[in-house]
Amino acid sequence: MADSRRNKNRCSFCGRSEDEVGFLITGMNGFICDSCAMQAYEITQEAMGKKNAGASSLNLKELPKPQEIKAFLDQYVIGQDDAKRYLSVSVYNHYKRLLQKDSGDDVEIEKSNIIMVGSTGTGKTLLARTIAKLLHVPFTIVDATVLTEAGYVGEDIESILTRLLQVADYNVPEAERGIVFIDEIDKIARKGDNPSITRDVSGEGVQQGLLKLLEGSVVNVPPQGGRKHPEQKMIPVNTKNILFICGGAFDGIEKKIAQRLNAHVVGYNAVRSAANIDKNNLMQYIAPQDLKAFGLIPEIIGRLPVLTYLNPLDRTAMRAILTEPKNSIIKQYVKLFEMDGVKLAFEDAVYEYVVDKAIEYKLGARGLRSIVETIMMDAMFEIPSEQKDTFVVTLDYARQQLEKANVARLQNA
Ligand code: ADP
Repeated sequence: MADSRRNKNRCSFCGRSEDEVGFLITGMNGFICDSCAMQAYEITQEAMGKKNAGASSLNLKELPKPQEIKAFLDQYVIGQDDAKRYLSVSVYNHYKRLLQKDSGDDVEIEKSNIIMVGSTGTGKTLLARTIAKLLHVPFTIVDATVLTEAGYVGEDIESILTRLLQVADYNVPEAERGIVFIDEIDKIARKGDNPSITRDVSGEGVQQGLLKLLEGSVVNVPPQGGRKHPEQKMIPVNTKNILFICGGAFDGIEKKIAQRLNAHVVGYNAVRSAANIDKNNLMQYIAPQDLKAFGLIPEIIGRLPVLTYLNPLDRTAMRAILTEPKNSIIKQYVKLFEMDGVKLAFEDAVYEYVVDKAIEYKLGARGLRSIVETIMMDAMFEIPSEQKDTFVVTLDYARQQLEKANVARLQNA
């Protein structure tokens, strides 16, 4: 009996034998049982948490300057200079705000939440995702549609912060200095310009809730989000230092802009100013009152003091999107083939053709990928099993592949 005890493998930390534990992990000179491994993990996490809390202290000298942030965005996002400049400055100022010390001069830098307006597929989310790669604070993207989708049954507004808490590993002080990108903010606009007696929950109610977050207040955040876990303990989060970036397509807002511009085009200088308006891109003239006309309440607009826009993508921009960004669609396919030892090349005419089709089917920049995917599908299926070392996509091949495919399917993509 005594011998059998001695011969058993034991955890080198708690001394329990393999019969007494779930399982033992064998090391070079010892063993660790499952429960000691778990404990070790928890201790490490705690220690790392402390270390990270220290490491996250920002240093303005080391942080990227607005021009550097923009240059980084330029590598991934085509055009949209205005939005890039605004975003870069806002993020940099956000850092400054976090660094401001109580200097006793009563000058407190207030936060400047941003709103970006631009048609769908012009790069709003891409900008947000790209800037996230560079950030030194927690960042998350949330979709405003979940707040309204089912009216009363939609998510609580506080759940917007759940994701931020999650990316900050539930480190509340870290989350409280983070950045939240709220996509599709236009979906919570009030329907119609006139405040009605029958307040619509899906619009104004949600906006009032959001206002609380934007203004800066302590809100109780469900750590697991939603209403699926009614028993969860709420975590109080102060939103005073959280930067909010909102984005939305605001479909049809050009009409509101045009109305406003026309209303101003009366009187002495009217003819000249009307002639200067670029009617093909009214978005560039967007002003806060257009957002109000669209259905955002003035209090929300007041809390989003930085307003910027994205240009519609023209042919040149679409053509550039195919090949120029650091991880452009075409570069991704070249890499896919490279991994099979195949050198992939495209005739220049193919690019023009892809852009033509994206425009023809009204698919925008999002469609570029699905079109290229359709063209390349057969080749991706066949080439890995063939002994080829180059593959050239000619215009004829591209045309033939796309015509063979079901165009209707693409349009629904
Ligand atoms: P939205 O404005 O609707 O948020 P996205 O940012 O999601 O649009 O863009 C959809 C896709 O289109 C992106 O993933 C990207 O591939 C492409 N795209 C759109 N605009 C640009 C742009 N300005 N530069 C590079 N790619 C773009």
